[in-house]
Amino acid sequence: VDDMVSEDIERFENSFVGINKRYRLINRIGEGTFSTVYKAEDLEYYKYNNRWDVDERERRKWSSPASKTKRSARKPHYVAIKKIYVTSSPIRIFNELELLFDLKNSDSVCPLITAFRHQDQVVAVLPYFQHQDFRDYYKDMKVSEMRLYMKSLFTALREVHKKKILHRDVKPTNFLYNKWQTRGVLVDFGLAEREGTEWHQCNCTLPSDERRYRIAHSVYAQNQQAGHQTTSYPKNDTRGSRRANRAGTRGFRAPEVLLKCTQQTTIIDMWSAGVILLTLLTRRFPFFHSTDDIDALLEITTIFGRKKMKEAALLHGQVFETNIPSYSEHGHSLEKIILWCTGRTDSDKNAPKKELDEEEKEAVAFLHKLLECDPTRRITADEALRHPFITKAYE
Ligand code: ADP
Ligand code: MG
Repeated sequence: VDDMVSEDIERFENSFVGINKRYRLINRIGEGTFSTVYKAEDLEYYKYNNRWDVDERERRKWSSPASKTKRSARKPHYVAIKKIYVTSSPIRIFNELELLFDLKNSDSVCPLITAFRHQDQVVAVLPYFQHQDFRDYYKDMKVSEMRLYMKSLFTALREVHKKKILHRDVKPTNFLYNKWQTRGVLVDFGLAEREGTEWHQCNCTLPSDERRYRIAHSVYAQNQQAGHQTTSYPKNDTRGSRRANRAGTRGFRAPEVLLKCTQQTTIIDMWSAGVILLTLLTRRFPFFHSTDDIDALLEITTIFGRKKMKEAALLHGQVFETNIPSYSEHGHSLEKIILWCTGRTDSDKNAPKKELDEEEKEAVAFLHKLLECDPTRRITADEALRHPFITKAYE
C-alpha cells in the first residue's frame, strides 16, 4: 500500500467517524467516476455471525475453495466498502442501494450487507469478492474459457433482467470474475434502473410535452420511410431536442441508447455483453474508443455499415446520415475484424488463406446475436444461456 493510498485511507477514517471501530481498512481497490472502493476487514463479523452454519454458508458463497475445509478457523472476514462521492445526488444513491436490496437473493449479484451515512457521506458495505483484473487475462483467454465467462455473465444478467432491472453499465470492471471458480458477480448498480422508468419524470418535464414530441418524432420517421426524403438536415427544426437516459460507459452503449430511444429495455445490457465478447475475441481493450455518442455511432458504423445504421435509426424515429465516404454501405464482417485485430491477415495474395478456427467461428455466430442493432431481434440472457455456444461450456 503506497503513501498516497495510506493518506487517503487515513483521511477517510478521520472524516467518517467510527468506521474504524467496525472495519479495518486495508487497501484501495477501485476508483471510479462515482466512488472509491476499499478492501477492509470486518472486525465484528463473528460477533454478529457466530453461528457456524451462517458462517459456513457465507464462506462457501464468497470465498475461495481452499478456505472451505478450515471451517472452524476464524479467518478474517473481508468486505468491500464503497464510498460514494458526496457529489452524487441523494436520489442516485438511494436508487443504487434500493436496487441492490431488491437483488439481495441473487447469487450472481454482489449483495449489499449494509450501508451507513455520516453527514453527507454514504458508504455501502459488500462482501469482498476475490477476482482477477480483466487486463491480466483478456489477451490470452481460450474460447472454452470465454464460454464459461459469458455463461456466468448471462446468469447474472438473467437474474437482474427477470426483475425488470436494466444494469446500464455492463463492462469488465463491473463484472468481477474469478476464473478459478469460473464464477463472476455483477457490481455497480449506480446507473441501473427499472424498466419503464419515465426519464422525463426525474427531470420535471411535463408528461404531456414528452408525449407530444414522441408523436412528432414518429410522424417524421414515417415520412422518411414513405419516401419523403429530406436531403439535408431540417433548417427550422421545431422539434424539441430528444431526451432519454443515455447513461453508461462509452464504447459499451447499445445503438438504441446512442440514438436516444425513449423506451429502452433490459436488452441494452446484452449489447454491452457482446462488446465484451468482441473484446475477448479481438484481444483489444478497450475495443471502441469514442468520446461521445456521435463518435460511438460512427465507430459502430465502421463495422456494420451505413445501411444497417440507417435502419437502426429509423426504428427509433431518427435519421442517420453521414457524408464521410470511408464508411461503406455494408461494413466489414466480424470474422475479418477479428483476423485483422489478431494479426492474421496477409498482404501476400499467394499465402495460404488465414481463417478463424472452428471454435472462433462458433463464437462469431453467437456474437452476431448479441451485436444485433435491432433491439427487438437481439438475444435475451435467457435465450443466450440456451444457445449452443454457451451450453457447450462444460463439454
Ligand atoms: P464505481 O461506481 O466507482 O465504478 P464499482 O462498484 O464499480 O464503483 O467498484 C469499483 C471497483 O471496485 C470495481 O471495478 C472492483 O475492482 C472493485 N470492487 C467493487 N466491489 C467489489 C467487491 N465486492 N469485491 C471486490 N472488489 C470490488
Ligand atoms: Mg464501476
